[in-house]
Amino acid sequence: MSRFFSEKYKNLSPYVPGEQPQDMQYVKLNTNESPFPVSPKALEFAKDNTRALNLYSDPDCRKLRNALAETFDVGPDEVIPGNGSDELLNYALMAFCDDKHPAAYPEISYGFYPVIAGLNLVKSHEIPLNDDFTINVNDYKGLNETIFIANPNAPTGIALSPAQIEEIIVSNPDSVVLIDEAYVDFGAESCIPLVKKYKNLIVTQTFSKSRSFAGARLGFAIGDKELISDMNTLRNSCNPYNINNLTEAVALGILADPEYEKANSRIIIENREYLTKELEKRGFEVLPSCANFIFAQTAAMDGGELYQKLKAEGVLVRHFTKERIRNFNRITIGTKEQLNVLLERIDKILKG
Ligand SMILES: *Cc1c(COP(=O)(O)O)cnc(C)c1O
Repeated sequence: MSRFFSEKYKNLSPYVPGEQPQDMQYVKLNTNESPFPVSPKALEFAKDNTRALNLYSDPDCRKLRNALAETFDVGPDEVIPGNGSDELLNYALMAFCDDKHPAAYPEISYGFYPVIAGLNLVKSHEIPLNDDFTINVNDYKGLNETIFIANPNAPTGIALSPAQIEEIIVSNPDSVVLIDEAYVDFGAESCIPLVKKYKNLIVTQTFSKSRSFAGARLGFAIGDKELISDMNTLRNSCNPYNINNLTEAVALGILADPEYEKANSRIIIENREYLTKELEKRGFEVLPSCANFIFAQTAAMDGGELYQKLKAEGVLVRHFTKERIRNFNRITIGTKEQLNVLLERIDKILKG
């Protein structure tokens, strides 16, 4: 830290992303990316439809907002795109948290929530999960705090139903509820249809997982137009050209080819069921996942040790050091071939 670093940021603990190593080719199952390339039709479309790069991008991102609005059956003013949904999570936290409305979220969830709370000097209320790692809906009723819930949750993969989430929304009429649906396309149900009914709901989704577009950084939020307008006030104060021309053009192509991403998500779901069964055969406990990853542990080896040994064998998974989950590893669902390599290496390690 230099002696010039602002006092107010001295205690920040920044987000620690999953490794993106360059030293060798790994079977990379650690950051929940899609193993499939972006839709070839989308790239083809973008070739002829990219706004010139000597011009700034459209600060209102009208084409993309219109396409998203059509896809999700909402109005264009109920949509805001972001440079990854991470950017939008931060704007939502800036917009809707203050001394009276701390940020409330599950104690075991996406590691970015505490980071943005810290960045914005907002108090966090971390709510423990049940013993079986599910979210206890009753803990969130009448909280009157700004609630962030990843659904499905990460890194557990466990989902709530929209009816359960609706109970939370209804019981917090004077605070905002944000549902982070980064993984919703792998078997959970979206809360976007509830946006028409409630003025205090924001739903975020991303192009990074089911849409194979992590490297381009694109997410979006859908919510009541007044909430979206508040988030736009912050976007226009931080990064008014947050979506670049290349990203917008390919994204329009992705939205025009929904069958491609649906077919890929079906393969991921199939492969998830396959990996779950195979790990259970080997004595692992696997939490019931609705995401493109599973969260698993075995009594045969410490989670951190298994992570290290897999890495030495060329397979990367994600290990977290938080006490309650330190025996688990989060494994991204890849192709069948990747999963077979993982299983073969696990067999080798556990026999060794
Ligand atoms: C991956 C992820 C995101 C966001 O990803 P972006 O790439 O920034 O869109 C948001 N929430 C959760 C829970 C995630 O796992």
